[in-house]
Amino acid sequence: MVVLDHVDKWFGDLHVLQDITLSIKRGEVVVVIGPSGSGKSTLCRAINRLETIDKGTISLDGQPLPAEGKALAHLRAEVGMVFQSFNLFAHKTILENVTLGPIKVRGLPKDQAEAKATELLERVGVGHQAAKYPAQLSGGQQQRVAIARALAMEPKVMLFDEPTSALDPEMIKEVLDVMVDLAQGGMTMVVVTHEMGFARTAANRVIFMADGQIVEENTPEEFFTRPTSDRAKDFLGKIL
Ligand code: ADP
Ligand code: MG
Repeated sequence: MVVLDHVDKWFGDLHVLQDITLSIKRGEVVVVIGPSGSGKSTLCRAINRLETIDKGTISLDGQPLPAEGKALAHLRAEVGMVFQSFNLFAHKTILENVTLGPIKVRGLPKDQAEAKATELLERVGVGHQAAKYPAQLSGGQQQRVAIARALAMEPKVMLFDEPTSALDPEMIKEVLDVMVDLAQGGMTMVVVTHEMGFARTAANRVIFMADGQIVEENTPEEFFTRPTSDRAKDFLGKIL
């Protein structure tokens, strides 16, 4: 579904992605883990072309990522992205946050967009908050709305970049539960997170990144119990 082939990216002198080759199958859930600054966010951003790459290719469902124009807008709709900061539109209601994309980008009639949004908001457990504004919701609720908003575009793959890092501890589980549910429903997912519980429950594969490289790649069980590289051992020693 997502294929990166010998991808390189530099920020000036910084070689932020170094010869990344990675293939994610339909329905696969890949957790990306690694120290701060290792290139995890850049990797996610490259997959929906919020960042350009300097070498190599990235393709989605067999098609190379488009560079610009309508094709790029279409690609963005196919790749759902959920960030650490929820990035909801503050002056729109929860329902409007979820219907906006489908109406503007997908051209869905308003009543259909609302029906679908209502269903998605219920699925993530915030159906009764539809008429409120983002600031009236807790962080965990806002992040679940952000997930519903991404799902409303019917993406082929969902990218999550540290979706629970900005949340109070008691709200982390309610967001992870939604993500586990999505994973079990067959969604193709790339998830940057240090939540080992999520990785063990939902991930098919863990990718450990350091200094712009994929240093280690394994099942969650193997990776967490028997990391092979010194970098991974050192990192796990710090977070566990
Ligand atoms: P991670 O998500 O693993 O913490 P990032 O992908 O955010 O890592 O960043 C990798 C490296 O690239 C860091 O050293 C960061 O400072 C640098 N970086 C990220 N974005 C930019 C940018 N737009 N311009 C210059 N350097 C950047
Ligand atoms: Mg990051």
